[in-house]
Amino acid sequence: IHSAFAGIQKINEFYIMEEKKQPAALTENTDYCIAADLKNVTFGYDESQVILNDVSLQIKKGEQVTLLGRTGAGKSTIFKLLLGLYEPQKGMVLIWGVPSVDLPDAKKRKVFGYVEQSFHMVPGSVKDQITLYDAKISDTDVKKAAELTGLAKTIEALPDQYDTICTQDLFSQWQLLSIARAAAAEPEILLLDEITANLDAETEKMVLNALQRVSKNRTVISISHRTMAETGRVIPIS
Ligand code: ATP
Ligand code: MG
Repeated sequence: IHSAFAGIQKINEFYIMEEKKQPAALTENTDYCIAADLKNVTFGYDESQVILNDVSLQIKKGEQVTLLGRTGAGKSTIFKLLLGLYEPQKGMVLIWGVPSVDLPDAKKRKVFGYVEQSFHMVPGSVKDQITLYDAKISDTDVKKAAELTGLAKTIEALPDQYDTICTQDLFSQWQLLSIARAAAAEPEILLLDEITANLDAETEKMVLNALQRVSKNRTVISISHRTMAETGRVIPIS
């Protein structure tokens, strides 16, 4: 309920928002070696409650890190700040040296691939689930993303393959489709929010395999993700 109220407030803010002017001097630079940079960030969804208190962390280009912390510690909140959905009360959140809130929405899909626990279906075909109606993502890209995540065979066995209208009972492995959706735009930074929680062993294995392929040559920030925890740096969030 708390989160729904905050959502309604956010929607209202959105409706009264004026179009943001893009500061001309700010262009993100992926040659820059720091992908994400939180500098002394203090944040709360409202003034009465501080969720993150003076948090600083840096994630380098190509690094694979895991944010680890108890429930409610603010891990998903850090993702929302990185995505530029919220602005910190104090400090700065930089993506490739640019404040995340200043990244134009049109660029965000190139910068971030965001995978969360639940899959949000959009009306349309299986292909639409992967492209999110982005015409710049070609059929070849869609196929590549499906192959990368191990979904290609399942999709090709559907009556109209990629053009099959998507319904709730079409698949069981939504998490893989979610990863394909994130991978299709070839994002620079992958954000994975507890995506292997609540999966059966077989699906979890498929998801981990898919992730391994998708994570190659990318900056990956995951929340409580076991395989990543074994290979990369672990950042405690308290
Ligand atoms: P979990 O491991 O359970 O996913 P988390 O570390 O991801 O936890 P967050 O989702 O970042 O935690 O939440 C941090 C705190 O902020 C919690 O106390 C939560 O209730 C609160 N919170 C999260 N989203 C909102 C919101 N939209 N509005 C107000 N409070 C929120
Ligand atoms: Mg969370």
